[in-house]
Amino acid sequence: MLRDSFGRVATDLRVSLTDKCNLRCTYCMPPEGLDWLPNAQLLTADEIVRLVTIGVERLGITEVRYTGGEPLVRREVVDIVRRTALLRPRPQISITSNGIGLARMAPALAEAGLDRVNVSLDTLDRDHFKRLTHRDRFDDVIAGLRAAHEAGLRPVKVNAVLMRGINEPEAVPLLRFCLEQGYELRFIEQMPLDAQHGWDRASMVTADEILELLSASFDLTPDDREDRGSAPAERFLVDGGPARVGVIGSVTRPFCGACDRVRLTADGQVRNCLFATEESDLRGAMRAGASDAELAERWLAAVRGKRAGHGIDDPSFLQPSRPMSAIGG
Ligand code: SAM
Repeated sequence: MLRDSFGRVATDLRVSLTDKCNLRCTYCMPPEGLDWLPNAQLLTADEIVRLVTIGVERLGITEVRYTGGEPLVRREVVDIVRRTALLRPRPQISITSNGIGLARMAPALAEAGLDRVNVSLDTLDRDHFKRLTHRDRFDDVIAGLRAAHEAGLRPVKVNAVLMRGINEPEAVPLLRFCLEQGYELRFIEQMPLDAQHGWDRASMVTADEILELLSASFDLTPDDREDRGSAPAERFLVDGGPARVGVIGSVTRPFCGACDRVRLTADGQVRNCLFATEESDLRGAMRAGASDAELAERWLAAVRGKRAGHGIDDPSFLQPSRPMSAIGG
């Protein structure tokens, strides 16, 4: 098992399929994009499936989430999902996507074995969407959400990041929209993971503020029907339920003590935390001929060194040099 020195066990693997994205969300990357990883450095589909197989069969991974960048721009995504679904014990398989491409791909992904999808959406206004993402793709995202729901990838979860003075007023309309459509909305506090290193605490809308904004229009009660476990979102029943809303207070309400996540970047590096400053190279070892047992050993060692917390509040905190899009959000 992937046990760290604090006794936490990683069972939830986040795999970045590519660092490339077809949106340019302001809190993630600059409008001109980034220096994408050269193709030769990206894991091939076979290499991804080999590492995921080691994770599932040897290291106790029970949940695999494909992300990026934008995972749907990776051509082999359906094939990768299909091969993941053949693993035993069969892991839960999900994708975090900006939704573009889901209208076309949701049925094939569901048929390949995808269980669920998280779609990012920070505004319901088409012009605002264009300003926030530098692309005019709002309609594609809405169509993608609907297609995912219709394909049975439920519950469709919607991720929203609020920024002070920018899309704060969207909190209530976003929740109303998700309630109407049957999607589960989760707000995520903005984290210092943007490529531009422009994050500042003052512009982050905190979990407390999000709950206050929502409480003006909805009756929220903590959903204690189920143990939160390692789930990052604190969940609330909306107007008595059964609909719920989640708030992920990554910065102000960190959940590092219960973290069960480990990450594999698109270029084959294991990261034991979003905010880790060190990575462990599985791609190099794999291409140099390492056996599955040797790769598993490297992976175990990488997780053993996981720090107690992300340390954003430490005076010595340093933002990781790789942005969210390269790590895999
Ligand atoms: N392209 C996919 C998407 O849009 O969901 C997957 C990758 S994206 C990096 C994953 C999630 O990270 C998205 O929900 C996005 O809103 C969130 N995200 C990106 N940068 C963030 C930041 N600085 N703070 C908080 N969340 C962030």
